[in-house]
Amino acid sequence: MRALVTGGAGFLGSHLCDALLGDGYHVIAVDNLLTGRHDNIAHLASDPRFEFLEADVCASFDCGSVDYVYHFASPASPVDYMIHGVETLQVGSIGTFNALECARRHRAKFFLASTSECYGDPAVHPQKETYWGNVNPIGPRSVYDEAKRFSEAATMAYLRYHKVDTHIVRIFNTYGPRMQVNDGRVIPNFMKQALSGEDLTVFGDGKQTRSFCYVADEIDGILRLARSDEHDPTNIGNPVEFTMLECAEKVLEITGSKSKIRFEPLPQDDPKQRRPDITKARKLLGWEPKVDLLTGLRLSLDYFIPAVAKNAAVARAR
Ligand code: NAD
Ligand code: UDP
Repeated sequence: MRALVTGGAGFLGSHLCDALLGDGYHVIAVDNLLTGRHDNIAHLASDPRFEFLEADVCASFDCGSVDYVYHFASPASPVDYMIHGVETLQVGSIGTFNALECARRHRAKFFLASTSECYGDPAVHPQKETYWGNVNPIGPRSVYDEAKRFSEAATMAYLRYHKVDTHIVRIFNTYGPRMQVNDGRVIPNFMKQALSGEDLTVFGDGKQTRSFCYVADEIDGILRLARSDEHDPTNIGNPVEFTMLECAEKVLEITGSKSKIRFEPLPQDDPKQRRPDITKARKLLGWEPKVDLLTGLRLSLDYFIPAVAKNAAVARAR
């Protein structure tokens, strides 16, 4: 069995490659390294069942016959997708069509990495899959939110019109080893700041909430969904909700840092609350997360300590 993973050199994509290789797949990772890194897949270089193709999925690419297409390519951090706004819209639209066409051509199954951002700044809490969301279609986050909503629509169209066997996961904030130290998401930011003795930058009053899922739990949920017969979107995330102030305190606790908290302006359209309703995943997949935030942060620390030191050394050398 051969699986294609677009975005395979990214944070989640690289963990997915590991898991698929562990399941006995031959894996082809396609990535243009826009926000991903060779380092994330360096440990796979000598595995004969792993291939890496440096390519943009918005251009035509050929990876031969495959049995499964996992479409994970897309900037995911708000900082990244606001810098690469047009590329984010392109990979969500043209890139998704190319990945879907690849699945259709090879009669392969298709799996879309979608997002809780489809719910926007949600008026319904917690978010169930049946909620249609509250997205600003022209705001700064729209390059990501609308690209992902479009990619869900395209995926459902290939199921309905072309009978491709498709699956859609709505991923809620996931963290862990291999996140870029500088990608701007809250956990890498707080880790970098705490480990460098800098102030932790809490945006707004810090009372906005997120629910953080450790990467191993997320990948487990994704693989269970990929093996299921479910076609409609399914939330996979941790339902335990924290304010950003609580998150900052947890990072200070596990790093033992003496850093202070500094408040900075809240970015436009920043969702005020986010927590997945995972009733569907529990019933359908028998899945629920096992790793709580403190444990997951501790597991991530072994990665962040050397990664932050390396990042500082690179910055000094510039
Ligand atoms: P990431 O930035 O680490 O990985 C994305 C990868 O896609 C990178 O390696 C990047 O180089 C690659 N890529 C981007 N555009 C490409 C293109 N045109 N062609 C080929 N490769 C391209 O981000 P991540 O956190 O690993 O996210 C992976 C996927 O999961 C994304 O689709 C994202 O929307 C989704 N997701 C992630 C989270 C999360 O919390 N991590 C939450 C919701 C959704
Ligand atoms: N955030 C913060 N400080 C930071 C980075 C982010 O307070 O240094 C906040 C951000 O405003 C948001 C939450 O943390 O409310 C999660 O942000 P992230 O970029 O990780 O992901 P999002 O869930 O917004 O996509």
